[in-house]
Amino acid sequence: MLLKFMNRPTLEKRFAAFVSVIGVLLASTGLAESSQSKAETDSLYVETREAMGTEFSIYLYAEHPGTAKSLFEEAFLEIERVEQLLSTYRKTSELSRINRDAADGPVTLDPEMTRLLERLFTWSHQTNHAFDPSVGSLLDLWGFTESRNEIPSSGEIDKALQSVGTDKITLSVPDRLVEFNIDGLSLDAGAFGKGYALDQAARVLNAYGVSRALLESGQSSYLALEAPPDSPGWLISVSDPCNPDSVLSKTVLADGALSTSGGAHRYVELSGERYSHIIDPRSGFPATGSSLSTVIAGNALDSDILSTAVFVLGPEKGIELLRSVPSARGLIVSESSREHEVFFIRWDDS
Ligand code: AMP
Ligand code: MG
Repeated sequence: MLLKFMNRPTLEKRFAAFVSVIGVLLASTGLAESSQSKAETDSLYVETREAMGTEFSIYLYAEHPGTAKSLFEEAFLEIERVEQLLSTYRKTSELSRINRDAADGPVTLDPEMTRLLERLFTWSHQTNHAFDPSVGSLLDLWGFTESRNEIPSSGEIDKALQSVGTDKITLSVPDRLVEFNIDGLSLDAGAFGKGYALDQAARVLNAYGVSRALLESGQSSYLALEAPPDSPGWLISVSDPCNPDSVLSKTVLADGALSTSGGAHRYVELSGERYSHIIDPRSGFPATGSSLSTVIAGNALDSDILSTAVFVLGPEKGIELLRSVPSARGLIVSESSREHEVFFIRWDDS
């Protein structure tokens, strides 16, 4: 494996130093003493539950087990609420309602869904449609939602591509209306739903005064609030896609989110070949440029979206995209039959 640091940044090195300076400064103030003594009496609690077809875990610091239990209850209720909003496996979800009705005329949205669709469509545009949540017809075609045995024909791919593209959707933010301008289009939350659920669950924990927590879904997205006591952050490891038992890199996360996309665990086998569940919405074919992408951003919706987009774009264009988003950093492992290269973009390995 070949490791390449793209602009291995002095900025991040300064940032790492900055974190430890803050720690020292806080320890010398009265405020820090009171928060430190509370932190010392708090213990770490963890709870894991199934949601969105995977497992979510929440790690948080609380004073009593009873407090932790109530906090878990509220946070997991919020994850369940987001699942009911976005799951296309549930015919009663808000996203299923949009998919069913929006080709027949404008569908009225609530403020939350309006804001979310606006963010999704902005990212879709900004990633040059490498991330495009309207890939539903292609996911059906390649057998991710309905099973099939053979590679789709180019005619089938061309037909499915006609109903893909957020530019074929009209969203009116002031009127809170969405309309599909073409039949057969369907939105899929696979690339962003878990990230959004983590952000929303963290918002709930914040409202209850939780400051130190780590939320995780499917071991692919992590959202960190403040660091554990006496620590610069939560240590997250990224597995090597060529050898999942070994660690490719470790990084310390605090007040930020990390997401990983890869084809190793989710794929379909058609005519004896494996195809990744991440599709390039421009070509209609499963993406082939990367074997893994990991992105760190300010919130989990953005990191989840960006890791999928970077995976689709592959190293060259993926690096360009990450460089164009000032708050983002990450790593990309190329897909190559001869040798995997690892590209680090503003990445701090711990
Ligand atoms: P992730 O693991 O976050 O990269 O998301 C992958 C999932 O997002 C897939 O299983 C599909 O449900 C969906 N998906 C696949 N390709 C794309 C794409 N290019 N843009 C948006 N969603 C996608
Ligand atoms: Mg994603």
